Amino acid sequence: VATTLVHLMDRLMERQLDATAATLLRRAVEARGISVRLEAASAAITGTDHVTGLRLTDGEVLPADLIVMACGVRPNADLARAAGLACQRGALVDDTLATDDPAIFALGECAEHRGATYGLVAPAYEQARVLARRLAGEDAIYAGSVVSTNLKVSGVHVFSAGDISGGPGCEDIVLTDRGLGLYRRLIVKDDRLVGAVLFGDTADGLYYLDLITHRTPITALRAELAFGRPALAA
Ligand SMILES: Cc1cc2nc3c(=O)[nH]c(=O)nc-3n(C[C@H](O)[C@H](O)[C@H](O)COP(=O)(O)OP(=O)(O)OC[C@H]3O[C@@H](n4cnc5c(N)ncnc54)[C@H](O)[C@@H]3O)c2cc1C
Repeated sequence: VATTLVHLMDRLMERQLDATAATLLRRAVEARGISVRLEAASAAITGTDHVTGLRLTDGEVLPADLIVMACGVRPNADLARAAGLACQRGALVDDTLATDDPAIFALGECAEHRGATYGLVAPAYEQARVLARRLAGEDAIYAGSVVSTNLKVSGVHVFSAGDISGGPGCEDIVLTDRGLGLYRRLIVKDDRLVGAVLFGDTADGLYYLDLITHRTPITALRAELAFGRPALAA
């Protein structure tokens, strides 16, 4: 089946992958016969009683018999807004999960914490644990969640965790073998691993996630860090 992947941004999985990993993913997807169109914005589905194509904002129409849309997640904070609570994308909460009304708490998809909204269950569980402890009288604080993605995209293993944006104070440790289709980038800041992108071989993903989540000092691990847990255990 001739398949075209239409994506709004200039690279695939732009929130999870850096430019190098996204390029490798694009090549891997294309090698499987899927055509990739980046920076392409959908305007309309054409057809009357059945779909005939997808029209882009530049007027081009891609013929299609079937269209599958993945549109992302947007918080539904209507109830909070109607109640007069401070909202941006979601209902704004502080590190205690309180909204700007100290008698009202929010967590999960409707909540926005330190500028982040999460569309996954794991952060909601972490928030729920913190709020439950606070309501039970403990002094728990929610400092945000480390989000990880562990996927098999068109047969290619891809892993991403933490903050991969880099920037001031960050150093990259990069291990790459284009011939084998392997890429590994570890982002280090203040002697801690803060982010990781793995392409091709993701076996060490949970090891890196553990280092990120527990803010483990990496000085003693650094020389071997790029080779993952097996090399350290040897
Ligand atoms: C198809 C699909 C697949 C997903 N797959 C995954 C996955 O694989 N992994 C993952 O981590 N996450 C996944 N998610 C996301 C995950 O389901 C959500 O992040 C999670 O359910 C959010 O939990 P929540 O309690 O914040 O909100 P919800 O689960 O949406 O619960 C909100 C509840 O509030 C109720 N409600 C809304 N308005 C009112 C009102 N005015 N009064 C009373 N009740 C109200 C709703 O009926 C609902 O029961 C998926 C989501 C979808 C839609």
